[in-house]
Amino acid sequence: MKAVKGKYYFGGVHPKGKKELSANAPIEVLPTPEVVAVSTSQSIGKPAVVAVSVGQKVKEGELIAKADGAVSSDVFASVAGTVSEIKEQTGASGAKETFIVIKADGEDKFRFPALSSPTAEEIKARVRDCGIVGLGGAGFPTAVKLAPKTTVDTLIVNGAECEPYLTCDYRLMIEKTDEIVRGARLIAKALGVTNIAIGIEKNKPDAIAAFEPYEDIKVVVLGKKYPLGGERQLAYSVTGRKIPQGKIPAEYGVVVQNVATCFAVCEAVELGKPLYEKVITVSGTAVKEPKNLLVRVGTAVKDIVDYCGGEAANPKKVVQGGPMTGVAIASYDNYTHKTTSGILLLSEKEAAADEPTPCLNCGKCADVCPMHLMPMNTAFYSAAGDFEAAAKYGNVNACIECGACEYICPAKRPLIQAIRKTKAALRQKS
Ligand code: SF4
Ligand code: SF4
Repeated sequence: MKAVKGKYYFGGVHPKGKKELSANAPIEVLPTPEVVAVSTSQSIGKPAVVAVSVGQKVKEGELIAKADGAVSSDVFASVAGTVSEIKEQTGASGAKETFIVIKADGEDKFRFPALSSPTAEEIKARVRDCGIVGLGGAGFPTAVKLAPKTTVDTLIVNGAECEPYLTCDYRLMIEKTDEIVRGARLIAKALGVTNIAIGIEKNKPDAIAAFEPYEDIKVVVLGKKYPLGGERQLAYSVTGRKIPQGKIPAEYGVVVQNVATCFAVCEAVELGKPLYEKVITVSGTAVKEPKNLLVRVGTAVKDIVDYCGGEAANPKKVVQGGPMTGVAIASYDNYTHKTTSGILLLSEKEAAADEPTPCLNCGKCADVCPMHLMPMNTAFYSAAGDFEAAAKYGNVNACIECGACEYICPAKRPLIQAIRKTKAALRQKS
């Protein structure tokens, strides 16, 4: 369908894209690592429960940890091999996680039976059984989003990829267009909707052109702004519907799914393939060869960096995820998760490593917040250890952790850190 222009929402920032570093790198498959360490924490919910023991042989795609609760997700072996260790280690998030270590020494694959014309219920069951979670970063189980309690009329496919450096969704959109469309149609069928729209930033004209030939897909061109890929921001840009704080898009008739999630749903239904690998971007000027890579969940960051030629310069900061929403990691002894979008090796210049100075009360952080929050209040009270006041006066529960406030802050205040710390303190209390 001929592309149309989307609406412009309040707030947001305009960081340098830096996408040219990896945008022209076609997706490559990272060779099978000798060892993977698959975390049982692969969703927004509780960690999955370990279902294998040390010494056990597993097939690629076999269940190794079972979801624990409605918003948890099943976890699968990403290589065929032998479970060599089950260990506790601090994950990229800074929390302790359980990792199932598998030494690759086999070829066997597990697949569910392929489904040729599944019903809505069969699609939902398959999405759950394949452990699919929102791959835009949130890690919310997709099967739960496919069973909204309200009436939904529109599926929005998120092809914004507005975060700097990341190009994995862009490559997927131009290399796997048809699979994404087929996955989106399956999701639409599961939801019982016929309206499908895809939102793509205007700086990706070839991705826009790739989807235009599909008559059942409305292509909406989004202005270049961060965070356009936030669910609320995207829902407004694409449909004009405003979703207030405390409400979810489904209450306003909209479900949002990322392009990588649509691709995973296509593979789960058509090939019976559980979610155990994902395309990520490796970028930053401190890595020799920026790439877009299909990597298995649980791959060591070291293996990924080595495959990309190693360091071009000493990185000031290594980030797992995007530069705005990702987390800085202290060593290469970290492992990818289902939701990992990138590994960035940032030089001194790119890392904007200026030391924080006192807040200037300039209000810029509030001006750019797409959720109309007051992040300076959160930072102020969180630093004083008063997390209840931090939550109340900064309204952290509505925060989507986009990082726009921290990006714009002239005093380099660690606002995201304060927000996450406050959220974690509140979770511990509840
Ligand atoms: S307070 Fe939260 S939602 Fe607002 S700009 Fe900062 S990170 Fe984004
Ligand atoms: S942008 Fe930074 S300096 Fe300005 S009010 Fe917010 S926290 Fe303070």
